[in-house]
Amino acid sequence: MSTGLKLSYEIIQLNLKDTWTIARDSIKFKQNVIVRLEKDDVVGYGEAAPNTRYGETAESSIEIIEKAVSMFKECDPWNYFDIGFKIQQLDCQQTAAKAALDIALFDWITKSLGLPLYRYFGLDKTKTPVSTFSIGIDTPDMIRKKVKKADRFPLLKIKLGTNNDEEIIHAVRSVTDKPLRIDANEGWDNKELALDKINWLITQGVELIEQPMPADMLEETFWLRERVDIPIFADESVKTCSDIPKLVGVFDGINIKLMKAGGLQEALRMIWSAKMFGMKIMLGCMVESSVAISAAANISPLVDFADLDGNMIISDDPFDGAYLNKGNIVLNDLPGIGVTERELKHTSR
Ligand code: MG
Repeated sequence: MSTGLKLSYEIIQLNLKDTWTIARDSIKFKQNVIVRLEKDDVVGYGEAAPNTRYGETAESSIEIIEKAVSMFKECDPWNYFDIGFKIQQLDCQQTAAKAALDIALFDWITKSLGLPLYRYFGLDKTKTPVSTFSIGIDTPDMIRKKVKKADRFPLLKIKLGTNNDEEIIHAVRSVTDKPLRIDANEGWDNKELALDKINWLITQGVELIEQPMPADMLEETFWLRERVDIPIFADESVKTCSDIPKLVGVFDGINIKLMKAGGLQEALRMIWSAKMFGMKIMLGCMVESSVAISAAANISPLVDFADLDGNMIISDDPFDGAYLNKGNIVLNDLPGIGVTERELKHTSR
């Protein structure tokens, strides 16, 4: 009965407002892949934000996306669990590409039904958590400037994990007293050093520590968690649902990202699992356009913490969709994930 979906894709370049530096690297722009799934004049949008940390590039994402062309051509789009499992089987690693396909599929399905994605999942858009705004690693002068510029955001995520940690926090604290969450991006590879850093950070009004140690140093992270009185969250230590059981007792919570999970279906499985294990849930992002951010924002009413600022740190987002207003995640009432292409919007006026 079904004639399937037409799959196409393009690489987009997203330029950062400021050079983006974290413990492991520094970038000025990002190349992501936009996926379109079309049928019956309905276009579903998806996005891959490949991350070199996980062995991904725009090109490696496209290799996986191309493998899915014939599968989508022959599929019945309404059998989305079946398609979801087929997407998962395309490759065991390249999760950003899989996320693009899964997001586009759900955008197409919910647009076809005329429903916003959050309504389809039975969620209340007024229950979105407040998102942090991230401050990348920089010189004290630049940190002060960036923190002042982020004045309208009530919660900041500060990137640490280099030799300048104390200098950065002093710079932040010289201009604001708002609550801080810390992301060390695996930057502290010695447990005693991590313990000292965290104990000092607690005195600086920090409320949460994300991925203090390298992803596979779970014994050391367990040692650390036994000795500090602050929630510790996993990010690089958790990609998909199968990673969660081994983290129970080691971390208080997990940072779920659509790009690591491989899409919305796996992210939902992760949310149910984390809740079952009594772990807190943060929903995070990579550097992404409004396509991937909006997809994540649609499921954010299910989580405790959010870090969905990826589209706020780029200067040339080709899409409009969910965004942050004083840290509040704002979802619109458009069907699907709620995005419009900027050029399309202009020509239709
Ligand atoms: Mg992180």
